[in-house]
Amino acid sequence: MNPLKASRLLKMLSNEVNLQILSVLRAGSFNPRELARILHRNETDVSRRLKALERMGIIEGRWVRVGGKNVRMYSLKVEGVNISFRPGGVFIKTSERQEYSLPLSGERAPEIGDFFGRKGEIELLRSSREKVIAVYGIAGIGKTSLAVKAFPDAFWYQAEETEGFDYFVWQLGIHLNALGFPHLLEYLRAGGREERDEFELALRGIEETGATIVIDDLHRCGDEKMGRFLTFLVEGLKNGKVVLLSRERPSIGTENVLYIRLEGLDVKSAYRLFKARGGRDDPKEFAGVYRLTRGHPLAIVLFAQASSSGVDASGNFFDFLMSEVYGRLTEKERLLLQILSLFEEPLEYEAIKAIFPGRNVFAPLYALVRKGLVERRGELYFTHDLIRGFVERVRDVESEEYYGTYIDYLLRKGSARDFLRAFKYAVLLGDEERIKALIEERLRKFKRVVQDFQGAYLSLLSKAPQTPQVRSEMGRVYFQRGFFEKALGIWLDVEGKLDGIFRADVLTSIADVYLELNDFEKAEEYLEKLREAIEENPDPEIELWYYVIKTKLHYYRGEVKEGLESAFKELNVAKRLGYYPELEAMVYLHIGDIYSEMERPEEAIRYYLLALQVAKAYSLSFLEHICYMELTKVYFHLGEYEKAVEEGGRAIDYFTHIRNYRRAVDTLSYHFLALIGLGELEKAEEDAKEMLRMAQGSNYPLAWAGYIFLATIEKMRGGNWEEYLHLGKERLRGYPWLYEAVLEETARVVDVEEF
Ligand code: ADP
Repeated sequence: MNPLKASRLLKMLSNEVNLQILSVLRAGSFNPRELARILHRNETDVSRRLKALERMGIIEGRWVRVGGKNVRMYSLKVEGVNISFRPGGVFIKTSERQEYSLPLSGERAPEIGDFFGRKGEIELLRSSREKVIAVYGIAGIGKTSLAVKAFPDAFWYQAEETEGFDYFVWQLGIHLNALGFPHLLEYLRAGGREERDEFELALRGIEETGATIVIDDLHRCGDEKMGRFLTFLVEGLKNGKVVLLSRERPSIGTENVLYIRLEGLDVKSAYRLFKARGGRDDPKEFAGVYRLTRGHPLAIVLFAQASSSGVDASGNFFDFLMSEVYGRLTEKERLLLQILSLFEEPLEYEAIKAIFPGRNVFAPLYALVRKGLVERRGELYFTHDLIRGFVERVRDVESEEYYGTYIDYLLRKGSARDFLRAFKYAVLLGDEERIKALIEERLRKFKRVVQDFQGAYLSLLSKAPQTPQVRSEMGRVYFQRGFFEKALGIWLDVEGKLDGIFRADVLTSIADVYLELNDFEKAEEYLEKLREAIEENPDPEIELWYYVIKTKLHYYRGEVKEGLESAFKELNVAKRLGYYPELEAMVYLHIGDIYSEMERPEEAIRYYLLALQVAKAYSLSFLEHICYMELTKVYFHLGEYEKAVEEGGRAIDYFTHIRNYRRAVDTLSYHFLALIGLGELEKAEEDAKEMLRMAQGSNYPLAWAGYIFLATIEKMRGGNWEEYLHLGKERLRGYPWLYEAVLEETARVVDVEEF
């Protein structure tokens, strides 16, 4: 490798985002869009990075043709990069399969400068028997610096007010995936959102990988779910480590938690810090500084900046110190500091550039970092709470202007996370127009926000002015959580107060809830209203919603022909809307389902395979496995048992891993029957037992059919089957139609007349 290329490669590998991408690619091949979604980053940026990594030969891209379009898929080309120092130079190899370990993590620990003292605390942190450790103390006392020093490779999570557990768990999923535990990430990607599952998968992941996790500024996170999660960890964690940094002592019980209250530095370390930050080498003078600061590191840094240290200890000493330091800043530095102090969360350099009026933000920003007034964490910059408190009192810039510019910046970036941030600032401004515009963006572009960030979105919505649009969105979250009646109540109430896309959304939603509640007439009534709305105001997006619901309605009613027709319309509009693979795959699936219902298995298979192709090409693993599940059924019905067993096996593994027991059981039942069809009784018996295990945990009624299946096997073996049959009948007593259906399907492969 030539030197230029080598150094470029090293640079690339030292970039956090690139490392994240590589770590996700460990799990398989991905297209840029899916990667962008997982990493909550902008798609163009991700594509650019992928191309660069490909040029370096670390990953490879290939074109896959799906549904008439070409899609670029990327996967790892090498398992690692080898760097060796030899006489004559440094050698880097990427072509051979060599081990090379990189500290991969979802979010990395901030960088810190010189570090002094705290030997005892570091030792305590590293060797503690308790696996959950809470370090607490006032702002600027050195919690972050201590944790970075003790655990430089930890997964770092910077808690923020708006993001809460939902965001945390995604990041954790990415991190654990990089460490070789893919199941949490898979679960989330598949849309799983059961609290218990998330907690258990997270715990298992931390246990199995022995990961260390730091949650910084925990006091900012008001999400109760996070509190429940931590309590859960305290009970179960044996192997990994979780470090919580907070201003207050977190209340997560007294057992199994080590609490460390952080105090100032000892004199010696404090003095070293003082001198390192430009303070005068005068022990006598420093004695006075130490008395005042009691070793508080941030105060010491400021002292080193101030011209005199003959500070008057009466009154607010910190403010006195700050005004001294502040008074010596340039005009530009002051303005920048004021702007930064408007934001609670760390900002990236690009964002600061976008909101700082005029050009050249670089110089003042670095001056502030040097002076200890702005902290840098990785790519992010922020002002310490203590300093922000001071600046707030002298600030003369208005938040509106800067929040507005920041919102625009975030929307240009365009990930779901950026959307939520933008929403937060619109709410802070109480700006109804902006909120409305953002909700429209949500409806058109950020559809998954409601699934992926339920908690965070709901909490923002509840702080916003309660306009009909906002309330309608809250209904959407309730619906997502299964509170159908509550959602319906809200939607019926706001329907007359909305127009345009907002009204169309509510009409769609109402029709959908009625479908879920099996009230087909009402569903049809609202569907009709939606149709009229489209006629007045055509919009392909809304047309799509219309056909999705219409297909569902016909399907539920058993009107297969109309359903099929509507499904093809869906497909058409979906294609007109452009790049929309999830939807395309879904529509193919629906069409397959309808053909299957019409007992036209060949056509059903054709559409399932189309859906499978799209799902694979875009790494939509959940859909991919739904396809395997459906194929299992159709192949079984066609008597192609071997194929049914093969496809079924894939689906079962996947759904079991992501804890979707309903789907796992559905597939297991056909897998079982196909094995019976092949005469593989022993393997089939395993399936039946597996179903019963799942029945215990999930209470999904079909799982109890495991008993009927055991009875089937016993009967074939000439054993005692009555007992099992009895148990099965007992369990399925409340579901006579289910019992009938099971018998009907079983009768295809074995005679169960006597049942
Ligand atoms: P906290 O997380 O408690 O708010 P930080 O860790 O951000 O505090 O520390 C505040 C400032 O003090 C930072 O600028 C940091 O560099 C400095 N600092 C804290 N602890 C030490 C230490 N042990 N040695 C050197 N500098 C420190």
